[in-house]
Amino acid sequence: MIQNICQDSDQCIMVLGLKIKVKRLKIIFVSIVMNFNRLISAIAMYISNMTHFLDETGNIPTQMPKEARELASFMALVVDETTKESDAYIICTGIRCFKKKCLGTINSEFLIENDDIHWACTKCKNEGVISFWQSTRWDNS
Ligand SMILES: [Zn+2]
Repeated sequence: MIQNICQDSDQCIMVLGLKIKVKRLKIIFVSIVMNFNRLISAIAMYISNMTHFLDETGNIPTQMPKEARELASFMALVVDETTKESDAYIICTGIRCFKKKCLGTINSEFLIENDDIHWACTKCKNEGVISFWQSTRWDNS
């Protein structure tokens, strides 16, 4: 069928043009999907159950992958600093944000509905919620 169309050179050019248009649309579509994924990861929240990062003795396991260990240590710091304060509504923990090149610090608060700790960077979109932090070794409350 395509061969028949291509016998006429004008129509053949039209078919080629359509193919190029489809290719361009595919590229646009792929770039939209990529940007959407970037956007989603940029606004992603770290929802963490503190006990999932601890071994049976309540410590951060040394054999944990580096990235998970760093995140666990960060959360331990946030719990430690946040639970030292009891009066402040928003707690300035002074902890540096772990996002590359970000110069922000972490503010935190207790969520009224469940006492989870909500933390957020002062400069970037980095934020998260820590649950089941009570009775961990960083709980100062
Ligand atoms: Zn940040």
